[in-house]
Amino acid sequence: MKTFSIAIDGPAGAGKSTIAKKLANLLQCIYIDTGAMYRSVGYYCLTNGIALEDEQAVSAALAHIEITLKHTSEGQRIFLNGEDVSEKIRTAEGSAAASKVATYGQVRAAMVERQQEMAKSTSIIMDGRDIGTVVLPFATLKIFLTASVEERAMRRFKEYQEKGMSCDLEALKSEISLRDKQDSEREISPLKKADDAIELDTTHMQIDEIVENIKALLEERL
Ligand code: C5P
Repeated sequence: MKTFSIAIDGPAGAGKSTIAKKLANLLQCIYIDTGAMYRSVGYYCLTNGIALEDEQAVSAALAHIEITLKHTSEGQRIFLNGEDVSEKIRTAEGSAAASKVATYGQVRAAMVERQQEMAKSTSIIMDGRDIGTVVLPFATLKIFLTASVEERAMRRFKEYQEKGMSCDLEALKSEISLRDKQDSEREISPLKKADDAIELDTTHMQIDEIVENIKALLEERL
């Protein structure tokens, strides 16, 4: 198969990472979860006493943040200055911190540069909010996933329950709605469907059906 890139964007809980992981296994290519990079920056600030509202301080912290992605048979692991933070970054507090630091221009520039570097020489699937619009504007295929807020909150609820984490469905719904608002209304690279992206509403679709759908679309493009 020729080298390809697939950009998957959409709001929290639309199924991006589940679908991207399955696709990457099927197509035997690298998967990059760009949200984990913003989460790592947020996590660094939370654990080092850097106020999330202080753009200058957060931007200055970038010089002390080294993010490394490792690909294992179980998927991507993310290391922050050598520490595996793959699970630690996935809390409600971590989500809110990521969404806050992701509004800052210098943070975005640093993350986008790393992401574009990673996509240079290999077939790749990347998920996030600005992949089709900013990171990979020439991607072979761009997908924009959506689902109702109720369905997305329910997916997160089940995910947290499976991990044995306590959660409240209504609180999750508000957290997701707030993050949607912040991500789509921010000035720099807001969450937005690229003009040439294909939109798929996953509310009533099965994961395997969507994966097969995207695979067929890619084959058409190649
Ligand atoms: O995808 P995930 O929910 O892990 O992303 C966490 C946050 O990181 C998002 O709410 C968004 O604010 C930010 N993000 C972003 N651009 C990306 C990926 C994530 O702004 N490409």
